[in-house]
Amino acid sequence: MIDYHIHTSLSDGSGEHREYYNEALRLGLSEMGFSDHFCLRPVPWAMGLDDLPAWKKRMQQVRKECSGSCRVKTGLEVDYFPEREEELKAVLDGLPLDYVIGSVHFLGTWNFDSSLDGYDEWDLRHLYEYYYNLVTKAAESGLFDVIGHLDLVKKFGHRLADGLEKIITKTLEAISKAGLAVELNTSGRNKPCRDFYPSYTLLEQCYQFDIPVTLGSDAHNPGDVGQYFPDAIDMLKKIGYTRIAVFEKRQIGFIPF
Ligand SMILES: [Zn+2]
Ligand SMILES: [Zn+2]
Repeated sequence: MIDYHIHTSLSDGSGEHREYYNEALRLGLSEMGFSDHFCLRPVPWAMGLDDLPAWKKRMQQVRKECSGSCRVKTGLEVDYFPEREEELKAVLDGLPLDYVIGSVHFLGTWNFDSSLDGYDEWDLRHLYEYYYNLVTKAAESGLFDVIGHLDLVKKFGHRLADGLEKIITKTLEAISKAGLAVELNTSGRNKPCRDFYPSYTLLEQCYQFDIPVTLGSDAHNPGDVGQYFPDAIDMLKKIGYTRIAVFEKRQIGFIPF
């Protein structure tokens, strides 16, 4: 199996690459991808432009040093800002990447997944619509290979059960049309929503749209690598998935499971 969503001390994770790698070897993973945060807006939890040269150097070293049975891939988790697509494209095109996870962590200037503050000011339906519109734009932007934690907006337990069909269909159509994968991100189970991203029903819809899926723990500690993967794989199989998407130099491939 693979774990494509891992944060090290280069962004907001707390371990070094080698520690995560050792954990991946222990679990018998065939591939792991480091996906530290990169954000054009200065935030304490992400690398900015000035950090990229050191990141690049470190990844070159890591790929040399970590040469055991688990293959190392170079990824980034990148914040999407609709008004900065061109700037982002210029940056990403110049980097030696296997894949880019596109994530929406900001609604306007609000970093909605960092704390509960701010939710009170939103009508829940408006919040969901705003969020999914941004995800749709991210999918259409051509900047990314994978959409990160597709239903992150539920993180703190703000659920909206009804009336989302239209907007979600639009988002899934955009993802499918752009040939992007979504990730099954297991970290949500540790959050107030107590659920993977995406939820079972949403992943079923992804399957119906023929959207490929990758797998990621969103590890911020070496011990998180592969968290809840047996459950995640059960879920994928139950839905009908038979293969997992992998990436090399931003080209998609598949491995059966
Ligand atoms: Zn994220
Ligand atoms: Zn992440």
